[in-house]
Amino acid sequence: MNTFETLGIDGKILSAIKDMGFENPMPIQEKAIPELLKNDSDYICLAQTGTGKTAAFGLPLAQLIDFKSPKAQAIVLCPTRELCMQITGDITNFTKNISGANIVAVYGGASIEGQVNQIKRGAQIIVATPGRMVDIINRKKVDLSEIQWAVLDEADEMLNMGFKEDLDVILSKTSAEKHTWLFSATMAQGVADIARNYMSNAKEISVGKKNQGAENISHIYYVVHARDKYLALKRIADYNPDIYGIIFCRTKIETQMVADHLIKDGYSADCIHGDLSQAQRDSVMKKYRSKTIQMLVATDVAARGIDVDDVTHVINYSLPDEAENYTHRSGRTARAGKSGVSIVITNMKELGKIRFIERIIGKKFIEAKIPTGKEICERQLFSLIDKSINTPINEKEIEPYLPKIFGQLEHLSKEDIIKRLISTEFNRFLEYYKNSNDLAGDRSHSASHSGGNFKRMFISLGRLDGVDKGQLLNILCTGADLTSTSIGRIDLMNSYSFFEVDNKDLEKLKSAFAEHDFKGRKIKIEESEKPADSKRERYGDRDNRGGGEKREFRKFGGDRGGYGGKRDGSGRGSYGGGGDRKSSGGSDRGGDRGSYSGGGESREGGAGSRRDKFAKGSRPRKKF
Ligand code: AMP
Repeated sequence: MNTFETLGIDGKILSAIKDMGFENPMPIQEKAIPELLKNDSDYICLAQTGTGKTAAFGLPLAQLIDFKSPKAQAIVLCPTRELCMQITGDITNFTKNISGANIVAVYGGASIEGQVNQIKRGAQIIVATPGRMVDIINRKKVDLSEIQWAVLDEADEMLNMGFKEDLDVILSKTSAEKHTWLFSATMAQGVADIARNYMSNAKEISVGKKNQGAENISHIYYVVHARDKYLALKRIADYNPDIYGIIFCRTKIETQMVADHLIKDGYSADCIHGDLSQAQRDSVMKKYRSKTIQMLVATDVAARGIDVDDVTHVINYSLPDEAENYTHRSGRTARAGKSGVSIVITNMKELGKIRFIERIIGKKFIEAKIPTGKEICERQLFSLIDKSINTPINEKEIEPYLPKIFGQLEHLSKEDIIKRLISTEFNRFLEYYKNSNDLAGDRSHSASHSGGNFKRMFISLGRLDGVDKGQLLNILCTGADLTSTSIGRIDLMNSYSFFEVDNKDLEKLKSAFAEHDFKGRKIKIEESEKPADSKRERYGDRDNRGGGEKREFRKFGGDRGGYGGKRDGSGRGSYGGGGDRKSSGGSDRGGDRGSYSGGGESREGGAGSRRDKFAKGSRPRKKF
């Protein structure tokens, strides 16, 4: 078996990586390190994030560079500030025993003067996001003429984010003699173009098949009605009490709403997306890294460069617009040789997308059934017992209380005590799932929604207020803390609408909306003269009611009541619905880039971004 030593890594670096806990090389390191150390060719390395690729290029760089000279000799380009800092930190650690070694990080959203000063003081390796690097080049504050190595890390991501023009500018400033090492998770067309334009006779190194997801990821999908997606998500979380997951959504609004509802329902969750300032995102990431929060809800753009180890589950709450992004998403789990699960919550209509992804990743998905209430309760129960068995006992601290506690429990048998202690935690799950339905992707369970006694209501909100049926349902449910099953048919008019509400919730709804306003205007709700049309199909029972993806939020608004109370005291808390958030800066030059496929205003980024420009000039990307 190879060691770092047999791969050619020398003493000072060896002792540094030993301190980092690197004992044996990972597969990409085994393949790349001896090749890159030869320093006689350009290389394309196909490697997923989390497979140890930073060391695969960082260790050879650390060894090849002449640290006696203060000149910039290597430039590492990467898509995000997070990744930029991570790479800088790693290479700084690799070179900690080498005197004179200086690695500088250059990224957007921080003072450019400070970064320029660091470069001036002499940095042999510049790790940069492309946008900021171009700014520094334009200010003529860096000399790249002696660059001997250009590393393009996560090249496919940089292209996805519209950095092609910046890469062109940067690479044109470096000498033709340099060697280029390109790292990418996928061999997307743009990556092949870069290889053709900027690299000569590049050799290819890969572990696993091209575009393939990590071996140790299990891919699972659940089919549910679009309107039950959120319930399904909660069940998945409940079924996996120790989940440490990333939940991917397609839009900023969806991301915020999923996170808000999870928080409201007592889960340990928060979100990152492009409407949050860098400081807000940093704070969420800090909480996630320290495992203060268990579930991070994210857009693709905001999640770029997230390199958190130990992620147990990636959940695709919505599939990405581009199938290749699935590989990036699922690559957030199963890092550093661990195993992980990538879950897709989908509906019948999207099954074609799953098949498409299967072809891209070269792996089959397993279809699973959303766990039933009973299965979840069982799982929670045994997890609780497991935790009790494994909880360390602080004998010294609890000793003074024991006599009193024993006294209080004296009259109970051992069995009774066990039952009672377990019930204190467990009852909320039993209660919550007591009458739960199966969340299957067919219409079977919808039948339970029909019938009931409904009242037709008038509401002074209509199309002219910019709401559609889904949003109106959401306003009603969140406003009065109802589930969507309490709301029946909705008839949307221009300046007002009618809807049906379950009689049992009528008073609750009325009193909740006595105080409610919409964008500063008071909302009027009153009983309509016309009775509810009991013959017509209920809103919640129809599957062809239009509205596209918005329908996903119809179940929101607390659905069956949540668990009441937070699960832990981890200082979570909603940001207050996102209304007060400011869009400020981002990962590099004005924030997250827009979605590649343009589309809805709520997607990350905006029209006119360079991503759009790039889209014109390149081959259309694979879409579903
Ligand atoms: P990367 O793909 O470079 O982000 O690496 C993923 C994780 O694996 C990081 O936490 C690295 O510190 C860690 N890592 C990289 N190489 C090794 C190694 N040879 N042994 C142990 N951990 C490693």
